[in-house]
Amino acid sequence: MFKKILIANRGEIAVRVIKTCRRLGVKTAVVYSDADAGSMAVEMADEAVHIGPSPAAESYLVMDKIIDAVKQTGAEAIHPGFGFLSENPEFARRLEKEKIGWIGPNAHAIEAMGDKISSKQLAADAGVSTVPGHMGLIKDTAEAVKISNEIGYPVMIKASAGGGGKGIRVASNDKEVEEGFPAVIAEAKASFGDDRTFIEKFILNPRHVEIQVMGDKHGNCVYLFERECSIQRRNQKVIEEAPSPLLDEATRKKMGEQAVALAKAVNYDSAGTVEFVASGVDKSFYFLEMNTRLQVEHPVTEMITGVDLVEQMLRSADGETLALKQKDLKINGWAVESRVYAEDPYRNFLPSIGRLKRFHPPEEGELGDGTVRMDSGVCEGDEISMFYDPMIAKLVTHGATRDIALDTQAEALDRFHIEGIQDNIPFVAAVMDETRFRSGDITTAYIKDEFPEGFDGVPATPEQTQMMICAAAYVHAVYSARAAQVTGRLAPPETPRTDWIVILGDEHHPVAINLGEGEAKISVNGGKAHTFATDWTPGSHLVEGELDGEAIAVKFADRTEGYVMRHRGVTRRAIVCSPASAELHAKLPEKPKPDTSKLIISPMPGLVVSIDVEIDQEVKEGEAVCVVEAMKMQNIIRAEADGTVKAINVGAGDSVAADEIMIEFE
Ligand code: ADP
Ligand code: ADP
Ligand code: MG
Repeated sequence: MFKKILIANRGEIAVRVIKTCRRLGVKTAVVYSDADAGSMAVEMADEAVHIGPSPAAESYLVMDKIIDAVKQTGAEAIHPGFGFLSENPEFARRLEKEKIGWIGPNAHAIEAMGDKISSKQLAADAGVSTVPGHMGLIKDTAEAVKISNEIGYPVMIKASAGGGGKGIRVASNDKEVEEGFPAVIAEAKASFGDDRTFIEKFILNPRHVEIQVMGDKHGNCVYLFERECSIQRRNQKVIEEAPSPLLDEATRKKMGEQAVALAKAVNYDSAGTVEFVASGVDKSFYFLEMNTRLQVEHPVTEMITGVDLVEQMLRSADGETLALKQKDLKINGWAVESRVYAEDPYRNFLPSIGRLKRFHPPEEGELGDGTVRMDSGVCEGDEISMFYDPMIAKLVTHGATRDIALDTQAEALDRFHIEGIQDNIPFVAAVMDETRFRSGDITTAYIKDEFPEGFDGVPATPEQTQMMICAAAYVHAVYSARAAQVTGRLAPPETPRTDWIVILGDEHHPVAINLGEGEAKISVNGGKAHTFATDWTPGSHLVEGELDGEAIAVKFADRTEGYVMRHRGVTRRAIVCSPASAELHAKLPEKPKPDTSKLIISPMPGLVVSIDVEIDQEVKEGEAVCVVEAMKMQNIIRAEADGTVKAINVGAGDSVAADEIMIEFE
């Protein structure tokens, strides 16, 4: 086994690789950019090498700097993680020349799978089912229309060099091909410097199902079953699970064997993923592409198979024979993963940047009937910067059945508290509770279908309202009893107040509360008293306990006025006060919000990609006025109201701060 390896990545995946290396007694070195100087990966690794400024193009993507770091540390091999240089055949080849080990597949396999047209041809030759369509290049729009008609609508137009959901268009008729074909060519040229484009059939009710494969340098290869990744937003996976609710044993075996056949066709060694699009209509499935690296969502496979994929990659890179045998591999239970993104689900999932004022993930280990695994690369106090991917953690749960895995996921999400930046936890928690997701009847259009207007939170059930009122009253009563003691009067403190009003929105709920030791009797709206048992202590942002014997968990954040409480997809603001101040409160006029409709404000720090309006131009509400890039995402900023452009304060290429005024209207 290697004595020392270098990890050419950052964040969560760097930490993930370090964990396995520690277990195997392999020393680790990581590279880091300016922005990552104080990161968890740097802290955990045995050595760390600074490789330059924060933008990836000046650090994590510079091959020379990575190779220098290997030489400097004496590492024997590189683990590339995902993203960055992980699928770059040129890099793999250079390492070969320099006699540096590569913890990934051979360069030939990376290259063969790097292109959609050639990999599709390879797959077809290996007996893998491919999407019906045209295999070759298409020279012009007229030919594209002709071919689309031969295939039959709807069709999908794809850039051969495409990736990350870019360079893809669905077309349902001639007109859409006439528009879509040149658009894909333009996008492919701009994004990949390669405009080769092809067309295939659009599979109805498409589901994304992928097979994990693992090979060695001696011609052995096995499949570790499938992952279902249909819950995507803008082609970015959000929730993944294994196994897939769609597959039966026969389909699973067929898909797995085809994936292995393809891997063998390119002498695949290391971990890889063969992606398929499966039809929810008849379970037919078709090859999409192969990702020649460790996949973000690999933990769900590890949870159901008990195999550590990073360990297998290290062993394979070191020339060991694959110890896994197909007949020994079994699926144990069910696992689900939520990608926790730094983004604001209530504002169209806009990336969110800033300091993690609080970061309290749930504990790993048993929870309810399942288990929790946390893969993260950040800790409290860290700065989430605009330079990298917005994914900050992966929450994985496992249970004997799908229902247990999902229930445990929901409960773990209820215990995952983040402050300082916005996070998508309320959104994924809402999905965990949603009927269609629960039924397993999902497609890649799930989020668009079920949240057509975006995410606006979930209305509270009466039980959730009750739970939140009790939690708010309890927290507030404890705080106020403590405040009375802290003032340090000599006389015994006044008996704590027992009557409170909990204000949720404009509802006033009178509450009577009697505090005991680790327990309280709480009556809401004159109803019968609930018994609330908890070991909550001031300072904690999770109220966990039993309300009349039922386990509950409510997260809350202190605000200058009241508390923000969260449970599953529900967020509610609560104010707790005495009946007298509640009366006053009801009479106060609402503070008017400042009018920002005449300004276009940058919602986050980022880079201006384009300004799409001119001075004196008339703009309609909802019209795109500029594009700001942060965290690899281009965000289209739209006018909030009709108006005429009066001033433009920034230009393409400028950096902007959060809340910076970019454009003003008359
Ligand atoms: P996957 O199929 O695993 O989601 P994609 O083909 O969509 O992968 O793209 C590569 C993945 O790697 C993305 O999920 C992206 O978010 C992730 N990624 C790319 N670069 C980084 C990075 N530096 N740190 C963390 N994640 C990254
Ligand atoms: P990328 O390299 O951007 O990941 P893919 O070829 O993997 O591109 O396709 C991205 C997504 O588009 C897939 O996950 C799948 O949901 C959808 N998709 C791709 N091809 C088809 C198809 N022929 N029919 C239906 N959906 C498709
Ligand atoms: Mg893909």
